[in-house]
Amino acid sequence: MSNLSAVSSISSVPTVVVPESVRFRAACPDCRARFELAAGAIRLAIGATSRTTFYSFTCPECDAAVRRPAGERIVELLTDGGVRTLRLHTSH
Ligand SMILES: [Zn+2]
Repeated sequence: MSNLSAVSSISSVPTVVVPESVRFRAACPDCRARFELAAGAIRLAIGATSRTTFYSFTCPECDAAVRRPAGERIVELLTDGGVRTLRLHTSH
């Protein structure tokens, strides 16, 4: 009598999937190239108003310094993804 039993031990520990490197899709307004940027390639500047809140990166295609306004959602997305955030303080 052969006793064959497949034992599958399924871990009940919930796993949280954290991507090793978050990538953001971006486009260059200069050369119109589309690419993905790592969090480390983007810098986010948060100013006092939404007008002075923007993110910037260097286009890997044409080397242009791109600066784009960042809305609340984008700010959240970028900070969650580990983008370096610079808080601009207004001197008063
Ligand atoms: Zn470009």
